[in-house]
Amino acid sequence: MNIKMVDLKGQYDKIKTEIDEGIQGVIDTTSFINGPKVQEFTINLSNYLEGVNVVPCANGTDALQIALMALDLKSGDEVIVPAHTYAATAEVIALLKLKPVFVDVNPEDFNIDVSLIEEKISPKTKAIIPVHLYGQCADMELIMSIASKHKLFVVEDTAQAIGAVYTYSDGKKAIAGTIGDIGTTSFFPSKNLGCYGDGGALFVKDNELAKKCKMIANHGQSIKYKHEIVGCNSRLDSIQAAILDVKLKYLDDYSAARQNAAKIYDELLNNIKEIKIPKISQNSTHVYHQYTLVIEESLDRNAMQAFLKEKGIPTMIYYPIPIHKQQAYINECTDKDSFPVTEKLAELVLSLPIHTEITREEQEFVVSSIKEFLKN
Ligand SMILES: *Cc1c(COP(=O)(O)O)cnc(C)c1O
Repeated sequence: MNIKMVDLKGQYDKIKTEIDEGIQGVIDTTSFINGPKVQEFTINLSNYLEGVNVVPCANGTDALQIALMALDLKSGDEVIVPAHTYAATAEVIALLKLKPVFVDVNPEDFNIDVSLIEEKISPKTKAIIPVHLYGQCADMELIMSIASKHKLFVVEDTAQAIGAVYTYSDGKKAIAGTIGDIGTTSFFPSKNLGCYGDGGALFVKDNELAKKCKMIANHGQSIKYKHEIVGCNSRLDSIQAAILDVKLKYLDDYSAARQNAAKIYDELLNNIKEIKIPKISQNSTHVYHQYTLVIEESLDRNAMQAFLKEKGIPTMIYYPIPIHKQQAYINECTDKDSFPVTEKLAELVLSLPIHTEITREEQEFVVSSIKEFLKN
């Protein structure tokens, strides 16, 4: 068995004709930058997101940066972020000379612990960036009410949760990334909607704000050579857009395949007392960008990972070192800050292979190998 963390080749083989045609089409027209394919994909993604404006850009990190630039935050303004996330979320804040203010996550769904947000709000706080980690939404209804009470912007980092659906307490539904002022996403190859290189996008409800994001991504110009604001150069290239336009049609099928694989893991791993399987939160669907276990503290998580590796089973740790302990961000925290859940998760999480092509047989082998480790 050749188990992979993600199987991009297997996925490609099933849609090869369409993808190859899409790529060849771009080459035939040589509209490599800002070509019609970028337009088409942008419109189709906007339709998928029920009409919210889509601004394509070069990657998910740029999307976050452009979002913060568009919100006109000033040097020293504070932005609240979960402590348990990919470094990019905090990186763009620091890069723009803003101050990341970390908040611990909750141990149930690994997303920002909403009950800890308000104590971190100061007069300088201007925005919250919830991250929909591993594929399910943070508690957006509460986050939006805190944000409106304190007049804060909300930027949803949707890099891991494109297509997840959030349900409000009144039953109303919204797609991840379309709830806050801006949603950002990444089309990195291994993401749920991945291209064959780098790519990203912003989802922006407000039309004026969308125009501004588009300008910023294009050197601060909306008319060629008329630079109204300082921007950057962040483009989704046409070949990537052509690939994404094909894959977007299958996104819901891909999410369903991941959910089916998760259900199989849930069944097979249920009742193993040393392992906590991921919990689905009440108000969000889960698109399983990752299927992440929490291993009991008495076990040696790293030994388990090594044992599985020996058997040819790849696993990943997202994330092994919390951001607040990283050299680059260590000065952003004070001694008063503490992130017990994040620190525990860094020691105890283990993400299993999950992707659109994984087979039950492969999953059974993963689980029997885990059980074999636990017996020893
Ligand atoms: C992948 C990811 C990003 C960054 O996306 P890139 O396209 O690699 O720049 C940001 N935030 C989260 C949570 C991610 O998973």
